Amino acid sequence: MEVSAVNDVSQAGLASLLADLATGRTEVVDLTTPLSAATPTLELPEPFANLIDFSLEEVSAYNAPGPYWKHHNIHTGEHIGTHVDAPIHWATGQDGKDVAQIDPARLIGPAVVLDMTAEAAADPDFLVDIHHIRAWESEHGPLPEGGWLLVRTGWDERSQDRGLFLNTDDEGRAHSPGLTVECAQWIGEKSPLSGIGVETVGIDAGSAAGQQPPFPAHHYLLGNDKYGLTSLRNLAKLPPVGAALIVAPLPIVGGTGSPARVLALVAA
Ligand code: MN
Repeated sequence: MEVSAVNDVSQAGLASLLADLATGRTEVVDLTTPLSAATPTLELPEPFANLIDFSLEEVSAYNAPGPYWKHHNIHTGEHIGTHVDAPIHWATGQDGKDVAQIDPARLIGPAVVLDMTAEAAADPDFLVDIHHIRAWESEHGPLPEGGWLLVRTGWDERSQDRGLFLNTDDEGRAHSPGLTVECAQWIGEKSPLSGIGVETVGIDAGSAAGQQPPFPAHHYLLGNDKYGLTSLRNLAKLPPVGAALIVAPLPIVGGTGSPARVLALVAA
């Protein structure tokens, strides 16, 4: 095909997508947890330092400091609510990209959903292993190039309750699902993915400090220029295959991550 013909085909595809969005044949599903002072955030044990929670600080509200307008300062950690983990977040990725340097083309791609809801309901410390992904692939085909593996665990139902969401026991140990070391290493080093998305507070399991290496999802994904998405919700509205994911972090220069809006396009 000549270049102009290729351009016509691409233009037709984009026009078709926009028409489907306009008519509702393609639906936009918001996978983002609303961001507020109540958004549950990771609580690291002593002696580690924690990020601040998100908050709004009123600067004016149609009053003397700003009679015709309302605006706020926002105060937030980078890793709060639905957010992206960039490579420089982790020691293994410290020579990699900050959140502003991630190629935007890596942030839009096919999304597949691995439903581990039953397993996580039976065991809050459940870990996804390679064989779960292989079983999924035998049913749905190979993981997509440049795609995102979204791990559904039902944890989003807990997202409005800090105690249930973090699920920390009396000894301070968190119990939430994640990945085995072998699975994290395979995703980081061998898979064609751009990254993974989870419903929990971080991409690693609650028990991940005790894995070897500690926090293997962070270790292997961020060390291999793959990215993490956390605190997703509404994954139940996505098919196992066929959704398109749009991940939109703020381009914070030098940032190790950013709160993000995460949207999925789904055939209605
Ligand atoms: Mn993070």
